[in-house]
Amino acid sequence: MAKIVFEGVRKTFPHKDRGAFTALDGVDLEIGSGEFLVVVGPSGCGKSTLLDLLGGLTRPTEGRILLDGDPVTGPGLDRGTVFQQYALLPWRTAQGNVEFGLEATGVPRRRRAARAREFLELVGLAGFEDRHPHELSGGMRQRVAIARALAYDPDVLLMDEPFAALDAQTREALQGELRRIWETTGKTVVFITHGIEEAVYLGQRVAVMTSRPGRIKEVVPVALDGHTGDVRSSPEFARYRHEIWDLLHDEVARAQQLEKEAVTA
Ligand code: ADP
Ligand code: MG
Repeated sequence: MAKIVFEGVRKTFPHKDRGAFTALDGVDLEIGSGEFLVVVGPSGCGKSTLLDLLGGLTRPTEGRILLDGDPVTGPGLDRGTVFQQYALLPWRTAQGNVEFGLEATGVPRRRRAARAREFLELVGLAGFEDRHPHELSGGMRQRVAIARALAYDPDVLLMDEPFAALDAQTREALQGELRRIWETTGKTVVFITHGIEEAVYLGQRVAVMTSRPGRIKEVVPVALDGHTGDVRSSPEFARYRHEIWDLLHDEVARAQQLEKEAVTA
């Protein structure tokens, strides 16, 4: 049985003057247990909407989303989310932020502290437990956010462009770390990005979305030989990159055309 199923999902938002706005239409997608699935698509195609639906933050207008066979009806501790903006509590230390994620789960206080330390170590932040967010770099803050999402042991990790605000070197380092963490924890990961290289590097499969209204245009399986060394420079990496670029290129052009029409209408 698939871990996650999107079945004919449509999502419309009410629009001030023009009735309803269709963000997603006819999204069908299956994600396996323990899979690392990356979703790419042009800006505004509905990537975040797709993830919000899976996170249970919004409900589909039509169709349904199944998690382990049951419809998603709201947020839950079976899903951990990491957003682009570091949603950390500024008045709490790294340790305190990770513990915060555990407070809702009923883990006793002493266990919480030990568990937070364990996950900060997993994301490479041993020794930084007592730092506050303003004392950490952007990359470190995202490591804290990842540790917080993992600490309560959700089956599924939802990531919405978590590395988009980081510089290129930090981003590459965190991509490597995330793959390692995924390999050691066996979580199902749904990762949103608009970066093609990021998608090829991270994904076992890459789902390419159409521009508005968003649906799944094609799912590309990625089978790289390994992820060590300068894999991004390998010919096979370039081949996948080009394949996805090609699929995305038409959609970006179409999105820009739609935008022009909207402005002149
Ligand atoms: P992406 O993450 O791919 O950039 P989003 O999922 O954020 O795209 O948004 C898809 C479309 O839906 C956009 O045109 C956006 O303006 C619209 N949208 C998203 N959320 C809302 C909302 N709460 N109300 C109205 N429109 C929304
Ligand atoms: Mg988005």
